Amino acid sequence: MHRAGYEAIGASFVYVPFAVTGADLPGALAGMRALGIRGLGVSMPFKLSVIPLLDHLDPVARRIGAVNTIVNDDGQLVGHNTDAWGAAHALSEALELEGKSVVVLGAGGAARAAVFAFCEAKMRVHLANRTLEKARELARAAAREGFSITVSNLGDLASHRPDAIVNCTSATMDEYGAESLVPEPMLSPGVVVMDIVYKPIHTRLLGLAERAGARTVHGGRMLLHQAGRQFELYTGRAAPLDAMDAALQRAIGQ
Ligand code: NAP
Repeated sequence: MHRAGYEAIGASFVYVPFAVTGADLPGALAGMRALGIRGLGVSMPFKLSVIPLLDHLDPVARRIGAVNTIVNDDGQLVGHNTDAWGAAHALSEALELEGKSVVVLGAGGAARAAVFAFCEAKMRVHLANRTLEKARELARAAAREGFSITVSNLGDLASHRPDAIVNCTSATMDEYGAESLVPEPMLSPGVVVMDIVYKPIHTRLLGLAERAGARTVHGGRMLLHQAGRQFELYTGRAAPLDAMDAALQRAIGQ
């Protein structure tokens, strides 16, 4: 996606994968400074541990408490989080967000970004997680920012009929077997179901939702939009989303 974007605007950037050898994160960031690398995408397990090593945090990353993007501004390393942008823009492809209700499944890093994004977009948010205390902790963090959300266990959703359901758990098909992550009556033609998991791109939840006639959004859409935001932060130019999307479609075989 990134390379296709650079090619589309004729920018002489390259985007390559790096492994952090021996989990030496300070060494990796020293390398970024020493080599003048403009930007780094940060994946798990480093999204939290990288924060104390940065010079500044963008307010969105500070609120979410996780960094997935670092921009090197003349030697000053600034941490950003583009997952919130990605979640809101992906869901808004299928639904006008303001005033709508959404059930978010999960309370990990990605759910945190999605919850803040949906609250910012003036949605009514209900958060359901396998471990209730983690959902409560996220609700307290949201309250500190002036947002009020409700919480429950993942198993207590039967009475909910939201406009949208967004899966931000990392539960794989192997783990929940033939079970649906949500009670099947919640899956109906009126609801939008988004799964942010992108490996596999067609998850069991999306399959069940499609069969119920619900509108679906797969994890590639969030991946695209969060990458588009990264592109803008790295290059200072508008992201050529069509070119990036075409590269994504090729990669996921659509
Ligand atoms: P994380 O911080 O490890 O959180 C994982 C969450 O999944 C927790 O809430 C956990 O519940 C829940 N969970 C795990 N296994 C479960 C199971 N068997 N049943 C029910 N709940 C389960 O992970 P993350 O960083 O938030 O990432 C979550 C997923 O989002 C990953 O698949 C990741 O690849 C994807 N993601 C996609 C994008 C995108 O652009 N599309 C961006 C970021 C992340 P407990 O609290 O009970 O443990």
